[in-house]
Amino acid sequence: MPILRLANLIDGRLQAPQHDAWLDVHEPAAGAVFAHCPDSSADDVDAAVVAASRAAAGWANTPIEQRAQLLQQLADLIEARLEEFAALESRDSGKPLSLARKLDIPRAISNLRHFAAAIMTWGSESHAMETGATGTGAINYTLHQPLGVVGCISPWNLPLYLFTWKIAPALAAGNTVVAKPSEVTPCTAALLGELSIAAGFPPGVLNIVQGRGPTVGHAIVEHARVKAISFTGSTTTGAQIADGAAKKFKKLSLEMGGKNPAIVFADADLSDANLDTIVRSGFANQGEICLCGSRLLVQRSIYETFRERYLARVQALRVGDPDDAGNDLGAMVSKVHFDKVIGCIEQARAEGGRVLCGGHAVSVPGRCAEGWFIAPTVIDGLPYSAQTNQQEIFGPVVSLIPFEDEDEALAIANDSRYGLAASLWTQDLSRAHRFAAQLEFGIVWINCWLLRDLRTPFGGAKQSGLGREGGSDALHFFTEPKNICIRY
Ligand code: NAD
Repeated sequence: MPILRLANLIDGRLQAPQHDAWLDVHEPAAGAVFAHCPDSSADDVDAAVVAASRAAAGWANTPIEQRAQLLQQLADLIEARLEEFAALESRDSGKPLSLARKLDIPRAISNLRHFAAAIMTWGSESHAMETGATGTGAINYTLHQPLGVVGCISPWNLPLYLFTWKIAPALAAGNTVVAKPSEVTPCTAALLGELSIAAGFPPGVLNIVQGRGPTVGHAIVEHARVKAISFTGSTTTGAQIADGAAKKFKKLSLEMGGKNPAIVFADADLSDANLDTIVRSGFANQGEICLCGSRLLVQRSIYETFRERYLARVQALRVGDPDDAGNDLGAMVSKVHFDKVIGCIEQARAEGGRVLCGGHAVSVPGRCAEGWFIAPTVIDGLPYSAQTNQQEIFGPVVSLIPFEDEDEALAIANDSRYGLAASLWTQDLSRAHRFAAQLEFGIVWINCWLLRDLRTPFGGAKQSGLGREGGSDALHFFTEPKNICIRY
């Protein structure tokens, strides 16, 4: 198969990088290069920002019906090629094709449709006030105006899903965008860029600059005409971005790493379906979802029986060719990430952890012989203060931790520098509410996991995030409120 050559989207045209530099893009399941992506420079970013600035006033003044219609049109075009998008996403990231087809691409389409609809009811609020006894008063109304040019920087784990999660509200709210997908998984964003031209977006409204984080991402953050940055990625990168953006007083939304607990009480309904969800919450997308629960806290009175049932299910998970519908886990996204996760497993052993299953690379014969696969791994026997239980691994590795009672479960769950998401399994309604209120996390699921309503605030506490995305929070972020007071 010929090597794909991706392009930037700048000013409504697909363009090669100005300095003709390219990056290799690997297929994780085969360990081989299958695409070349622009290794863009600050000059490409500048060209994109200039185009976005030129388009900003026209787009801000475009009627919302028209903006919404273009987003809908883009969603329709992606939907018409869903299979192609899913295959490309799976090939680029190593995730099972079935998951890309069921989760990633449908959700990208929903993101576009959701914000196309949300902007139609997003309006100005008004407040009447009395100014005295003479019957005079004043009316305040608040306009939510677009910011101008905004930067959207997204990671590799849910490539199109998170890319659209940012560009959809930004565009719906009337901003022009300079977006940068991860250089590890640039393909579906590039295809979306092509379709945005076909959808009819005016030149410069959406610009996509491909390339490395420290060059392209950094140039977007530093550019004087970029008014806000919406970032999803690691906490380390988030800190660097915050540093750069703070000096320029840019609006900033950060969605970062996690070390999420799943907490199972003795009174939980551990039906087969619920156990399947608990397993999925650790291993979906090879554990490469920021919301995956990698610390599984289980009440001591059911610990042994739970562990056996849980392990039996994890051992039954199948790892292999992402194209094979029978496989639950595909490949790790890159060799670098594969090495990191294997290193974390070695560290868990060195810390005294007991590897109950997995703990090794998996060889897959045939076309995937050179791929980067890791067996689903369950570890126990480590104190909750161990490195393994504190650092984000972002792979198919779950650590089991027993607890005595509610107080201890809460102390363990909250003992983390992260605070993204927690899931809680209990049939005691009072405990569920009491416990959820005390968890230091931005998202809490009770007796479920990854149920997402796009209207709800999404984001993390502590070092997992700054600000919230989703629903009206995203539209607030991408607009500047202006209060106008009229006396009568
Ligand atoms: P990353 O931080 O390495 O990269 C994320 C994006 O930032 C990429 O596009 C990258 O090129 C860019 N980047 C890198 N250095 C930059 C810099 N100096 N300036 C500007 N941009 C830069 O993260 P990753 O490895 O792609 O993704 C995995 C991480 O993302 C995990 O920590 C995971 O928890 C996190 N994540 C969080 C959420 C969430 O919603 N909280 C969702 C998905 C992933």
